[in-house]
Amino acid sequence: MMDSFERKYPSNRIRITVTGIVQGVGFRPYIYRLATECGVTGSVRNDGRGVEIDAQGARVEEFVRRIPLEAPPLVLITDLVTEELESGNADSFTIIPSRGSAVSSAMIPADVATCDDCLHELLDASDRRHRYPFINCTNCGPRYTITQSIPYDRPSTSMNRFAMCEDCAREYHDPGNRRFHAQPNACPVCGPRLLWRRNAQLHGEDVDLEGDPALHAALHDLREGRIVAVRGLGGYHLAADARNERAVHLLRVRKQRYEKPLVVMVRNLDAARRLCHVSETEAALLSSAQRPAVILRQRTDNGIAPSVSLENPTLGLMLPYTPLHHLLMLGDCDALVMTSGNVSEESICIDIDDAELRLEQIADGFLHHDRDILQRCDDSVLRVIAGVPRPVRRARGYVPRPVLLRAELPSVIAVGAELKNTLCVSKGRAAFLSQHIGDLESFETLRFFEETLDHLLRIFDVHPQALAHDLHPEYLGTQWANGQLGDASLRFADLPRIAVQHHHAHLAACLAENGTDEPAIGVILDGTGYGTDGSIWGGEFLVGNSAGFWRAGHFAQLAMPGGERAAREPWRMAYAAMRALNSIEAARIFPEWLARRSAEEIAAAEFAMESGTNAPRTSSCGRLFDAVASLTGLCDIAHFEAQAAIRLEFAADESVRQPYGFELRAEAQQGMMSLTENPGMAGMPAATSIVLSFLPAIQEIIKDMRIGKSVAEISARFHATIIEGCAAVVDRIAMETGIRTVALSGGSFQNALLLQGLIEALHKRKYAVLTHSQVPTNDGGVSLGQAVIAHAKLRG
Ligand code: ZN
Ligand code: ZN
Ligand code: FE
Repeated sequence: MMDSFERKYPSNRIRITVTGIVQGVGFRPYIYRLATECGVTGSVRNDGRGVEIDAQGARVEEFVRRIPLEAPPLVLITDLVTEELESGNADSFTIIPSRGSAVSSAMIPADVATCDDCLHELLDASDRRHRYPFINCTNCGPRYTITQSIPYDRPSTSMNRFAMCEDCAREYHDPGNRRFHAQPNACPVCGPRLLWRRNAQLHGEDVDLEGDPALHAALHDLREGRIVAVRGLGGYHLAADARNERAVHLLRVRKQRYEKPLVVMVRNLDAARRLCHVSETEAALLSSAQRPAVILRQRTDNGIAPSVSLENPTLGLMLPYTPLHHLLMLGDCDALVMTSGNVSEESICIDIDDAELRLEQIADGFLHHDRDILQRCDDSVLRVIAGVPRPVRRARGYVPRPVLLRAELPSVIAVGAELKNTLCVSKGRAAFLSQHIGDLESFETLRFFEETLDHLLRIFDVHPQALAHDLHPEYLGTQWANGQLGDASLRFADLPRIAVQHHHAHLAACLAENGTDEPAIGVILDGTGYGTDGSIWGGEFLVGNSAGFWRAGHFAQLAMPGGERAAREPWRMAYAAMRALNSIEAARIFPEWLARRSAEEIAAAEFAMESGTNAPRTSSCGRLFDAVASLTGLCDIAHFEAQAAIRLEFAADESVRQPYGFELRAEAQQGMMSLTENPGMAGMPAATSIVLSFLPAIQEIIKDMRIGKSVAEISARFHATIIEGCAAVVDRIAMETGIRTVALSGGSFQNALLLQGLIEALHKRKYAVLTHSQVPTNDGGVSLGQAVIAHAKLRG
C-alpha cells in the first residue's frame, strides 16, 4: 500500500480540522469510536469552525482516510485539513469541551425526525422516558429550530433553561452513550413538558392540565371533532380529525382557507399506503430523517373528508416526526389534518402568547409545551416527478443544510423573489437558503424575513460583500435592499446592489444546484417576472450562465386585461387569447364561454385592451395555462396561485399525447443583456429571437370544446403542445449555439405532466437535461440564482 511506501506524517501526530455539518449529528462519538478502532490517541472537540481532532498513532493515516468514508448519514463534510504536529504522549482518546472561537463557520444541522431507538424507548413501558414527548438523542431531535447561535451547544439553544437531572447528565457525559452530548437531552424529571389550555374565549371554561393528562385532553378534543393548536418543532399546527368532514370544514372556515389542499399526518407507512399510492421513492422520502409532506396520488374512497383536498386527486401526507406526533397518532384518530398554525397567509405562530392571541378564533384548545421555538420553520413539501424527489416548499428538515457550490465564492446576501420567498446567504462553498418565508407582500412577512436573515448571518458568521435583489423596482425585497423600507437594511448601505433578472436567476439556480456553470439553454416557464425590457416575462428561452444571458426565444405575448387581476381571474386571459385570435369577433367565437361572463366584465376587459391603459403584455407560461383553464371551463377565478394550472394538469388524460399546432417566428432581439464581459459564453446572441405562439392550439381548443371533446383529452393535448413547442425552440437554439445542455426551471415545472413530458422529449433528442431537486423550481429557488449571479458580478 501507498501508506507504507512513503510516510506522510513521520511524527505520527496530526491536527485534523473538519468543517461542514459536523456538530449535533453524532460526529464526535463517531470519531471517538473510529479512533479507538484505529488505536489512535488524542482528543476531539467542537470549535467555532467545526471539529478539531488531535490524533496520534501508527495508523493515523488510515484514521484520516476513513473519516469521510464511514461518517454518520447526517454529517456533511465540506473540508478536511490536516497539519502535522510534534509527537506527544497522550495515552487515550478523549472528547474535550467545546471552544468558542472568533471565527465561526460551524454548520448547525437541520431538525431530525425521531429515530427508531428513541421511538422504541418512547413505547417501552419499562423505559424511564416511556411516553415522554421530548425524547431525543444524538441521532434525532430538534436542531435548527431551537438554536440561537454557535457553537451548537446546549447553552446556545432553548434547552438552556432546563438543567439536566443526574440520569440525563450521566448519559450526556458518557462517550459510549447514545445521548453523549445530545444537546436537547431531557427526561420527564428535568425536561420540557406539555401544557393543555382550553380556549376560554370559545368555550367559556378554563382548564389547564400538564403532562400526560394534557395530551389526553387534546386527543379527546380531536376525537370530538374539535380543532387543536399543537406546538410542534418549527411552529404551531392546527390539528383536526381528517376523517371528520364537519371538523375539517370548520377548520377551513375558521382559518379562512377555502381552497388550498391541507396536509394530513398518518401513523406510519402502511397507513399512508391505505390512503394513497406510494412508490418506493415516495416511501423512502416519507420515512426519511427530514420527514417532509409528500404529495401523493389518492386512492378512491379512502375515507378522508372531502374538504381535505377538495377536488384534487392528490393528497399531501406526512409521517410523525416528533415524539409528540407519535403520541398524538396513537390516539383514536389515525389521520390528522396538520396545517400551519396561522390565519390565512400570515406566518406560522411559534410563541405561546402569540398563538393564543392569533389563533383565538380558530383553535378550541391549545396543546403547548415549554421548549421555545427559536426559528420559525414550516413543514417541507416535496413531490416525486420523473422518479426524483423535488421540493415544492423547502423548510423544516432541510434548512439550513447548504447547497454546495462549485468553488469558494465571496459572501453575498440574496433577498429572493416576491412570492414563496426564501433568502440566501453564501459563505465559501456553501449557499445557505433560508426556510420558506412566504409571500413578501406584507410588513409581517418582511419582519420574518429580517429575523431570518439576521439569524443566518449570525449563526454562519457571514460578512456579506454584495446584496442581490430582483430587477423589479416595486418588489418589497428590492425596496428593502435599497434601504427604502425600515432601517434594517441600512447596515448594508455600503454594499454594492446587484439587480438580477428573475428568469436569469431561475436558470442560474438550476445550473448551481447541478454543480455546473457551463452555458446552457434555459427553458424557464413560470408565472411572472420583470423583464429587461420592462415587460412581464414568463415563458422564456434564455441562453447563458451565471455571468450573463440573452433571450433567445419566448412565448408570444398576450395582453393581461386588468393587469394584476388577470393573474387571479383566468377568464381575463381566456378573453385576451380569443381577442388575439380574432380582434373583431373576440369572445363571440365561443358563445358557450361568453355565457358565463357578464356584459360589464367583458366591456371592462375590452376597454382595458382597446385603450391599452391596463393591459400589460406578457409572455408568461402561467397566464397561458390560465387562459386554457378558463376556455376548458376548469377555472374562471383562481383562489390561490397556480390553481388554474393545477386543475388543468389533473384533468389531463395522460394516455393522450397528440399535440395541437403551434407557430415559430423570428423577431428582432429586444431586452438583450450585454455579454461582453462573458468570454466563456459559446457563440454570440443571434440578431433575432424566436417567438413561440400557441394561438393555433387555442383555436383548436375552442373548436374541440364546441364539438364536445372531453376536457381530459383537450388538456392532455395542450400539455403535449407546450412540450413539443418548447422542444422545437430548443432545437433551433441548439443548432445556432451548439449548446446541448438544457436547464428547466420556473414554477410551471411543478406540473408533473409538463416536467416529465419535456424531460422525455429532450432526452429523446439527446440533450443533457438539468432540473431541480435541491431547491424549489418555483420562486423559492430564485435566491440561490441571485447569489451565484452576484458572485459572477463580483468576480467581474
Ligand atoms: Zn433518537
Ligand atoms: Zn433528566
Ligand atoms: Fe419565477
